[in-house]
Amino acid sequence: MSERPGSEQTPLRIGVIGSGPSAFYAVEALAKLPDLQLRVDMFDRLPVPFGLVRGGVAPDHQKIKGVVKVYEKIAEHAGFRFFGNVRVGSDVAVDDLAERYHMLVWAIGCESDLKLSVPGEDLQGVHSATEFVGWYNGHPDFRDARFDLADAERVALVGNGNVAMDVARILLAAPDHLASTDIAEHALAVLQKSRVREVTLLGRRGPAQAAFSPKELEEIAALPGVDVVVSADDARLDELSARWLETGAPRSAQRNVKLVQELAARPPSGGGRSLRCRFLVAPVELQGSDGRVAAVRLQHMALTADAHGTPRPHPRDAFETIAADLVFKAIGYRGRPLPGLPFDPQRGIVPNQGGRVQEQPGGAVRPGHYAVGWCKRGPTGLIGTNSADAKATVEAMLEDLQQGRVQQPRGGDVIELLRQRGVDFVSWREWQLLDAWEQQQGQQRGMVRYKQPSVEALMATVRQLRAGG
Ligand code: NAP
Repeated sequence: MSERPGSEQTPLRIGVIGSGPSAFYAVEALAKLPDLQLRVDMFDRLPVPFGLVRGGVAPDHQKIKGVVKVYEKIAEHAGFRFFGNVRVGSDVAVDDLAERYHMLVWAIGCESDLKLSVPGEDLQGVHSATEFVGWYNGHPDFRDARFDLADAERVALVGNGNVAMDVARILLAAPDHLASTDIAEHALAVLQKSRVREVTLLGRRGPAQAAFSPKELEEIAALPGVDVVVSADDARLDELSARWLETGAPRSAQRNVKLVQELAARPPSGGGRSLRCRFLVAPVELQGSDGRVAAVRLQHMALTADAHGTPRPHPRDAFETIAADLVFKAIGYRGRPLPGLPFDPQRGIVPNQGGRVQEQPGGAVRPGHYAVGWCKRGPTGLIGTNSADAKATVEAMLEDLQQGRVQQPRGGDVIELLRQRGVDFVSWREWQLLDAWEQQQGQQRGMVRYKQPSVEALMATVRQLRAGG
């Protein structure tokens, strides 16, 4: 009988797919388990690590991006290796990995976005926030995206979560505010020519149910030259929300309502740019002329309580149309299916029970496969949420380990497979060289970091650095 993995002779071999916050928090939780010898291999399809911290967190939120210091410490664990530029599902199959590790941790996030499903969604000038955020962050997937900010004055922004707030802030802030960050050069150049004056935030529920954090709205209200405009009508609370605020609402909802009402009472400074917050309206049609979006038809909503008492929007027989030169949809993300890995098409996640991957939603557990982060619970929560989430999955892994529910790896070292297949992977050491190069190039440009926005360019630099150049 083979020895239980985790000993000196048979270290526990873990493969982690993805290198964002949830991936690193899973490694941290595993490394903290006592008396366990661990070998962790982390894979990313990009040559660079850190997932949404690099490609999602806005460039003017460098303090938040500073969380990578924690991940760098985690990567110092003796048994840790990184394999960047490896596409699981094509370069290597799920089964190739399953053969080589006792356990696999899926940390692949939610890389796609939700659709509005209203007429006109395909018009030119209609974009997802995912595209815009990836573009200004230099994510290689979005380097070819085009945003006609030089020809747009009015932007309609659907949804009022924190992603919408990031998009609004980047559109409204003076580009000088961004010039010293790690924003993609191509995005800064376009933002410098932007004529956007007004962003209208469209929330389908009321101010008490707004999805943004109060801090995010405060930050926009504090931007020089930017007014947050809320009409008295929009700021007014309906009876149901007023009751809900007193009974079941989270604390942040009270802060949001207070802030929205304060902003509604504030006289505009006439700074020239504004964020207009609308509530209880939902787009029912995006209207265009010559194939380009020009207006959004909105239906007014009313709130009614669902079975749990949560206020939900219901359409009223009232409509209006607002002009919009561009429309951004920030209504949430969903996962993409990965060949060989179960997928829940309804929720857009990897089906799982407390982090144990299931063959289908509610189905049998697939032994040795675990999920963490957004691909486990859906696209919600702040970066820190992923720490507790990863710990919970690691507890399930430990329980399975103690019960002997682990796979026995049959394949050899993944490095041999990658070499056989000619996959030019990026090691952690090589990433550190690239990281230093990006920061040094940034310094020369007066920026925190310079990011090359294509996999080809990133790999060309890695090869040069690898060769000592
Ligand atoms: P979110 O917080 O779930 O917000 C989605 C918004 O879209 C909500 O206002 C939602 O309204 C609305 N919506 C959804 N479907 C819609 C539809 N069909 N029509 C109209 N509106 C619709 O998602 P997110 O903004 O993508 O953010 C994802 C997570 O990342 C959140 O937990 C967020 O806090 C976090 N994040 C944090 C930061 C930060 O801390 N700075 C930055 C970015 C993201 P309902 O509420 O009515 O469903």
